[in-house]
Amino acid sequence: MAEPVRTDVAIVGAGPVGLFAVFECGMLKMRCHVFDALDVPGGQCAALYPEKPIYDIPGYPAIDAAALVEKLAEQAAPFAPVYHLGETVERLTREPGGGFRLATSGGAEVIATAVIVAAGVGAFGPNRPPLPGIEAYEGKSVFYYVQRRDAFRGKRVVIAGGGDSAVDWALALADVAARIMVVHRRAKFRAAPESAARLETLAKAGRIDLVVPYQLQALEGAGGMLSRVVVADLDGKTRALEADALLAFFGLSMSLGPIADWGLNLDRNHIAVTPSTSASSVPGIFAIGDIAAYPGKLKLILSGFAEAAQAAHAIYPLVHPGEALHFEYSTTKGVPGRS
Ligand SMILES: Cc1cc2nc3c(=O)[nH]c(=O)nc-3n(C[C@H](O)[C@H](O)[C@H](O)COP(=O)(O)OP(=O)(O)OC[C@H]3O[C@@H](n4cnc5c(N)ncnc54)[C@H](O)[C@@H]3O)c2cc1C
Repeated sequence: MAEPVRTDVAIVGAGPVGLFAVFECGMLKMRCHVFDALDVPGGQCAALYPEKPIYDIPGYPAIDAAALVEKLAEQAAPFAPVYHLGETVERLTREPGGGFRLATSGGAEVIATAVIVAAGVGAFGPNRPPLPGIEAYEGKSVFYYVQRRDAFRGKRVVIAGGGDSAVDWALALADVAARIMVVHRRAKFRAAPESAARLETLAKAGRIDLVVPYQLQALEGAGGMLSRVVVADLDGKTRALEADALLAFFGLSMSLGPIADWGLNLDRNHIAVTPSTSASSVPGIFAIGDIAAYPGKLKLILSGFAEAAQAAHAIYPLVHPGEALHFEYSTTKGVPGRS
């Protein structure tokens, strides 16, 4: 078998925070391998809301989530990270000679001096509605994420769910789709009040159909393509909605997946860390971004960015033992290929 590749830092998760960690490690002369279960970088930004503007990234009054991911990848690029996309890190074990061995679902093995876990909500996946035969439609006409609004242009779309994602996508697709039908088991939506009010306005104007209180009951179609979504009210009375696509937004399952078996102290499905360094309970393993827990933690991208800088500084002595780290600004140091 081929010798495993060696690197300074292995980053588990290529969400916005994992991507920025590549930059911070690179600035401190540490090479990175980055792993993600998804086959694109960007984490929640790419999978859940690529076309939504984010308003609280410092320096960007508004930036679409997909554009932020692109910028972060561009900022990391001078440090030549090695990406392992579409690969879940399944095992993380300590190496006898120091460092850690990571083994992925795709069979890759990498040995790293230190590990940064930037795994967000863990190996996240959508909560699927329990509809018989739904697997045959998934990825063809049933979706749990929207990657491009345009994919629904001219289509009759059923959106199921009562939270922010369901309401926000109903609003965002109202101009693009031929018809939007929102199915929710209650008359009241749990979304931000302003969005719920906009939904009511569009419903009154006849631009969105509210199918409430109903729940999904069955799918009809052939070859993975939907023709009708059958819904039932609370008394079991059914109705069939002619549809080309179903978007089901019932939240994400927050399973830590394999990370729960890595021997780290957990705090309700998150990794407990020391706030000033992002160090976990296992020396050499750090956690940043949404997965990191400490008192007062704000699950924001900008908090994750600061945690990435702190973790990189804490890792430096592990990768460069005996070398003093002189704190320097990026303006002083410059970036390879840019300065
Ligand atoms: C609709 C919505 C709107 C939001 N708006 C804002 C906003 O306006 N401002 C803001 O600051 N934040 C916002 N957020 C939150 C923000 O997206 C998160 O804070 C951010 O994505 C966290 O980044 P992360 O890199 O820590 O994790 P994530 O983005 O969750 O990325 C983690 C990655 O790790 C991968 N992973 C997990 N386990 C493994 C494993 N074992 N092996 C390989 N890969 C693994 C996952 O596949 C995932 O891609 C919003 C979130 C949502 C859902």
